[in-house]
Amino acid sequence: MSLIHVSALILSICLLCGCISTDEPAQLENSGKVNVVATTVPLGHFSEMVGGDQVNVAVLVPPGTNLHTFEPSPSKLMEVEDADLYVKNGAGLEIWMERIIQANGDMLVVDSSSGVGLIETTDSNDHGHDVHLGDRGVHEKILTADPHIWLSPKNSMIIVENIYEGLIEVDPDDADLFQRNRDDYLDKLAELDLELNSTFSETKGREFIVLHPSWSYFARDYNLVQVPILESEKEPGPRYLAEIVEVARGKNITTIFVDPNFNPKSAQIIAREIDGRVLPLDPLAENYIENMRHVGKEIASSLEG
Ligand SMILES: [Zn+2]
Repeated sequence: MSLIHVSALILSICLLCGCISTDEPAQLENSGKVNVVATTVPLGHFSEMVGGDQVNVAVLVPPGTNLHTFEPSPSKLMEVEDADLYVKNGAGLEIWMERIIQANGDMLVVDSSSGVGLIETTDSNDHGHDVHLGDRGVHEKILTADPHIWLSPKNSMIIVENIYEGLIEVDPDDADLFQRNRDDYLDKLAELDLELNSTFSETKGREFIVLHPSWSYFARDYNLVQVPILESEKEPGPRYLAEIVEVARGKNITTIFVDPNFNPKSAQIIAREIDGRVLPLDPLAENYIENMRHVGKEIASSLEG
């Protein structure tokens, strides 16, 4: 064997080694999976739907917590330290986002609200988290957005797309898997949206009464009117309660929907007054599609009164 042949052999062995090593999965920190932290349970669920086996998902706001008064504890901030990707709700929900970024400056932050048509709120002390809706008018106004964007299947399709974009940026080697998963889940969301459209095209009434106004985007999608009892974190006064009772009587409404994370007292007062009932709807349930189907069914049946 000549020297040239030996060199060629060594070269081909090296190339072979190179080949083998590039076939290995992307070496992300620790497990080789993408570590995702999401603000809420539904955002964590969407991340799992798109990421499949290639993601480890943790949720920042624990179930059973009021989203609007939540503050991340030091142990929660530690969970963020190993994250490759942070999925934030956006629309002004994360007033503490600065602290998350301080805990981990290296992770990619996805704003799930990017591209969602936000609903402005007139309220200034509940959801008023100083979101700047830039090009909404000539006057540079600081307006506040309703942060409950995920409670609309149409918005959720945009949210899922945003999460997908983040995942392929952090882990491009698994882009094919993420794309397949995204497409499958988008199909399911589109199907859910169609179902809800047909459900609400047939209902008699339009108005539904809720304790905490989480359902503005849902109402917008299906041409409904959300009547909130709590416009802010403050309990409503007797005059406002009387107005809601009037609406309920006028529209034959007998169901008052409550968010399980809020004190149901004022909802119970109204329910008693109209001889109606209080029914919980969970805006933060884990199985998104199943929960939204349930929500749609309950709101639709309340409109048949
Ligand atoms: Zn809320």
